[in-house]
Amino acid sequence: MTYAILADVHGNLEALRAVLADCAGRAAAVLCLGDTVGYGADPGPCVDLVAARALAVVAGNHEWGATGRLPPGWFNGAARAALAWTRGRLDDDQRAWLGALPLAREVDDATLVHASPAEPDAWDYLLTAGDGFGAFGAFATRWCFVGHSHVPGAWSLGSSGPAHHRRLTTLGAERGRRYLVSVGSVGQPRDGDPRAAYALWDPGIGAVEIRRVAYDVAAARRKIEDARLPRILGDRLVAGS
Ligand code: ZN
Repeated sequence: MTYAILADVHGNLEALRAVLADCAGRAAAVLCLGDTVGYGADPGPCVDLVAARALAVVAGNHEWGATGRLPPGWFNGAARAALAWTRGRLDDDQRAWLGALPLAREVDDATLVHASPAEPDAWDYLLTAGDGFGAFGAFATRWCFVGHSHVPGAWSLGSSGPAHHRRLTTLGAERGRRYLVSVGSVGQPRDGDPRAAYALWDPGIGAVEIRRVAYDVAAARRKIEDARLPRILGDRLVAGS
C-alpha cells in the first residue's frame, strides 16, 4: 500500500489539485500533515478537499492560529494578516473540523506530526542534522513524517551510524534503521524549487520518493493579489522560497 503524504497546502488550491491529480494513480491513500490554511487565497476549498480525501490529518500551527488556539501575536506580520483574512473565509463546519484535528497520529508504522514529534505544540523547525537526530526518542514507530519547514529532507539512525539527507529526492530504507522524513510543502515550497512537493511512501518495500509537481503558480499568485493579501505571499510562490 502506497501513501501520498501532503503537508503545508496553505490555501493553495491550484497546487493541491495538481498534487492530488499526480498521486491519484500512484497512492492508495492520502495523509496530511497540517497547515492546510494560511497564506493562500483558497482556505475553505482546500479544507473541504483535504477533509474529503485524506485518511488521516494532523493540526499545524496555522490550524491553531485559525481556530484561536495560538494568539495572532505568535505569527509574523504577513502570516498574521493572512490568518485574520482566513478566519473570515471559513464557515462553521470548516472551523470545527480544523479545531478537532489531533496533534499527532499513527498510521501503519509511522508517526504523523506537523512540526516535531518531541513536542508537537512547540512548533519547532527540524532543519539541521542535530534538529532531526534529537527527535528520534520522541516516536516509537519506525517512521516519522513531518512538514512545517517546507523543505524536503530526511534523517536516519541505525547501527551503521546517523545519516542526514539534505536535498531528499528518493530514499530506500535499510534493515534495522529508523527514519524521520520532512516531506516539503504542497502550497508554498521554500527550497528554491517552486513546484509543489509531496512524498510517496511505500512501507512494504521501505521506499520514499519526494515528487515535484508543476502547477499554475501565476493563477495562485493572482488570487492572492486579488484578495489583497500581502504581496510577498504571491511573490514567494514564484521564487519557491
Ligand atoms: Zn507551513
